[in-house]
Amino acid sequence: MANSVAIVGRPNVGKSTFFNRLIGEKKAIMDNESGITRDRHYGYAEWTNKFFTVIDTGGYVTNSDDIFEGAIRQQVTLALEEASVILFMVDVNIGITELDKEFANILRKSKKPIIVVANKSDTNEKSMMVGEFYQLGFHEIYPVSSQSGFGTGELLDKVVSYFEEQGNEDPDAGIPKITIAGRPNVGKSSFLNAILGTERSIVTDISGTTRDSIDTRYKQFGKEFIITDTAGIRRKTKVHEDVEFYSVLRSINAIEKADVVLLMIDAELGLESQDINILRIAQERNKGVVILVNKWDLIEKDTMTLKRYEEDLISKIQPNNHIPVVFISSLNKTRIFKAIETAIEVYEFLTTRISTSALNEAILPEIEKYPPPSIKGKHIKIKYITQLPTPYPSFAFFCNLPQYIKEPYERFLINKIRLNFDLKGAPVRLFFRKK
Ligand code: GDP
Ligand code: GDP
Repeated sequence: MANSVAIVGRPNVGKSTFFNRLIGEKKAIMDNESGITRDRHYGYAEWTNKFFTVIDTGGYVTNSDDIFEGAIRQQVTLALEEASVILFMVDVNIGITELDKEFANILRKSKKPIIVVANKSDTNEKSMMVGEFYQLGFHEIYPVSSQSGFGTGELLDKVVSYFEEQGNEDPDAGIPKITIAGRPNVGKSSFLNAILGTERSIVTDISGTTRDSIDTRYKQFGKEFIITDTAGIRRKTKVHEDVEFYSVLRSINAIEKADVVLLMIDAELGLESQDINILRIAQERNKGVVILVNKWDLIEKDTMTLKRYEEDLISKIQPNNHIPVVFISSLNKTRIFKAIETAIEVYEFLTTRISTSALNEAILPEIEKYPPPSIKGKHIKIKYITQLPTPYPSFAFFCNLPQYIKEPYERFLINKIRLNFDLKGAPVRLFFRKK
């Protein structure tokens, strides 16, 4: 199990405050009306170079007085299943309550490390009062103040001491990180909402709405993926140009963090120069790309419409005709999952390993048929090819005169690689090395 920490405890002890402190961001969106935190409360943190997942189970229990045992059991079971260390949070201002005891009864049956976190120890006096919590039956009690940060360092030292060594790794490693980029109003948040099946971010018709940026980990079709929500790219600005400016700026950050970029365009508006910019940024950074043509419901269609639209689109992004295009409607939830499946597929292409023998068997005969043109009477000989261990497909071509291989021939080689190996949506880079 990847290293992870779950925070359990009754409502109002300060779980989400502590969670936000660990995550270092305000990830949770509070629904002010119902008092229920809507987000899944799932993020990751780092302490002394150890990465771990943090789960705030609080979102699973509503903020009401008639909280029943079943709900507690559910929350705790979830924590015990998912986490390697459990933080059982209590409130020093209130002391032990009946609900705290119910949590303790269930938690005591677990074999996992359980640390009692005496929250709201805002002053020295309060932090001295934690002794009463030994009655709950756990040995480790740490006073903290989620508000000021007091005590959290000592607590985290203890937490990470329970981790297996693999905890140095990013717990999200190997899970595709997907980001949705595109101009304002193309439908990015509508798309996210369609995936979530709930209203996560606020969709409005007014350009310039401020929203939070969130990374969320999902499990669907038996696959895990992370979506970096760039819907927050809109900033409150008066000038339209500024909105565009921020949207590109924020896109760059989101693209940087992602493996695969879903470049969303508005079917009615088609591909515009800003979209080409985003595409270029994604490719410069060696990211996978899928183009989503959203609002397809608004297009009047006959049997040829889609094919023509796609051909026209592809012609505008040459030489990138390998990029998958998915026609969707976020509004009608049409082909939303197909879009995600395609992104995951592109991620698999990004991380494909092709054996040296398969590469050479496929590509060397092509080179033999069309060798690189000789330059200044010098004959260029490519001896063998091997894939490099980069996070995207890159290949080293070993040859006698690497400096003499020019761009058109490089493009020829990339084409041959793409024809022989399925790498749709993934960049392909070549390096020529002397041998
Ligand atoms: P949850 O229901 O357990 O997730 O609790 P919240 O994080 O929503 O916190 C409940 C209340 O306790 C909020 O009003 C917080 O501001 C407050 N709170 C959280 N941590 C501290 C703390 O360390 N000290 C004090 N004084 N208040 C805190
Ligand atoms: P964002 O700025 O890219 O996040 O775009 P929004 O998700 O806020 O959508 C902008 C507008 O386009 C809203 O009025 C949406 O209702 C509308 N919209 C989004 N997706 C679709 C779609 O697939 N079809 C139609 N007809 N309208 C859509």
